Amino acid sequence: MDGIRCRVLIVGSGPAGASAAYHLSRLGEKDVAVIERLSEKAHSRYHSICGEAVSDKSLRRAGIETSHAVRRVEAIEISCGSLGKTRISVRGSIVDRPKMLEEILERSGAKRIRASLRSVSRLPEGGFIAETSAGTVVCDILIGADGAHSTVRKCIFGTRPEQLVPVINAVVPGDSDGTLRFSVKAGDDGFYSWDFPSSAGRKSVGFRKGSGEIPEDSNHGARCIPIGRLPHAAQEGCILAGDAAGLPNPLCYGGIGAALISGSRAAEAAVSGDWRGYDSWIDHDRMFDRRFMDAHSSFSRWTDGDIQDAMRPLNGNATILKGFLAILRHPKYARVYMACWMGFRFGWRLVLISIRI
Ligand SMILES: Cc1cc2nc3c(=O)[nH]c(=O)nc-3n(C[C@H](O)[C@H](O)[C@H](O)COP(=O)(O)OP(=O)(O)OC[C@H]3O[C@@H](n4cnc5c(N)ncnc54)[C@H](O)[C@@H]3O)c2cc1C
Repeated sequence: MDGIRCRVLIVGSGPAGASAAYHLSRLGEKDVAVIERLSEKAHSRYHSICGEAVSDKSLRRAGIETSHAVRRVEAIEISCGSLGKTRISVRGSIVDRPKMLEEILERSGAKRIRASLRSVSRLPEGGFIAETSAGTVVCDILIGADGAHSTVRKCIFGTRPEQLVPVINAVVPGDSDGTLRFSVKAGDDGFYSWDFPSSAGRKSVGFRKGSGEIPEDSNHGARCIPIGRLPHAAQEGCILAGDAAGLPNPLCYGGIGAALISGSRAAEAAVSGDWRGYDSWIDHDRMFDRRFMDAHSSFSRWTDGDIQDAMRPLNGNATILKGFLAILRHPKYARVYMACWMGFRFGWRLVLISIRI
C-alpha cells in the first residue's frame, strides 16, 4: 500500500469516521480514504461494546438513516436506589452499531485501508504525511475520528480531553421494554450504571470500571469515554470529530449522536475549508455546552442526601414550573437541573416528564 495519496484521509471508522466519509461523498468529494486499525471481526466486537442507544433527533441531525435499528426506545428512567425514580418519555433506538457502521461506510464508497496510524505530521509544502503499519499516506486534509486515545490529536493538537472514564459493558440474556434505565448513586464520581434493552432476548448492562461485578458468562468488554472537550478541534486542514474531540456528553456519557453529527460537520468543513467555522460550531452548539462539564463536576461531589434533596421537589409528574421552583428552592443543584433539562431538550427532544419517588 506504500505511497498512497488522497485528498481527504479519515482516521478511524467508528460513528464519527463513517459519518464523515458518507457526507464527504454526498458533498461530491470522492477522493477519500478511511484508515482503520482493526480487522473486520475485531471492529465488530469493539463497536458492540456499547449501549447502542441513540436518539431520533441525533440521527436526524446527522442526516443518517439506518436499517439496523433493532429496538425502539420510548423512555429513560433514572433511579437513585431507595431515594427515588424519574421517568422521562423520549424517542430513539437501539442500533446494531457494527452493522450500521458497515452500512454507512458502504454507502460512502470511500477507499478503505486496514492499517494502524502510528504518527502523522504536516508537510512543509502543505498537507500531511501519515505513517501507518502498512506504509505512508499523503493527504491534503486530515480528519481525526480515531476515538478516545486519538493519535491525530496527540500528533497535531498535542491536547487531551479532561477525563477518560473507563467503562465496562456486558450483554446478558434478559427481557427489557423500550426503557433506558440509569441507576445513580453518590460516590461514583458522577457516573452511573445502566440497563438498556438490546436485540431480542438480551440486555446491555454497564458501569464504571471497578464499581461493579462483571456478570458471569456475559459477552463483555471495556473502553474509555472521554469527557471535557478540547480548546480547539480544528486547525488549518485538520479536524477532530467524535471522541477524538472529547464530545461525549459529560452527564450521560452518550457520544454516538455527537460523533455522527460532528462527522457530518467535519465533512462540510473539509469541503468548504472553513476550519474556524467548525470550532465555532462546537462552541455554540448546545449539545456541547460547557455547562454540562460544570454540572458533571458538581454532580460528582453530591452525597446521597443531595440526591434525595434534589429529587424531592420533582415528586409526581414533573413540569417546567416544578423545575423552576426546584431551582428556587435548591439553587445549589441548579447546574445539574439545568444540564439535565438541556440534555433532554437538545439531545433527545423532550416529550413528557413524569417522576415518581
Ligand atoms: C461501554 C460504552 C457504552 C456506550 N454506550 C453508548 C450509548 O448507549 N449511546 C451513546 O450515544 N454513546 C455510548 N457510548 C459512547 C460512544 O460509544 C462513543 O462516544 C462513540 O463510539 C464515539 O465514536 P467515534 O467514532 O468518535 O470513536 P470510536 O467509536 O472509538 O471509533 C474510533 C475508531 O478509530 C479506530 N482507530 C483508533 N485508533 C486508530 C489508529 N491509530 N489507526 C487507525 N484506526 C484507529 C478504532 O479502531 C475505531 O474503529 C458508549 C461508550 C462505551 C465505552
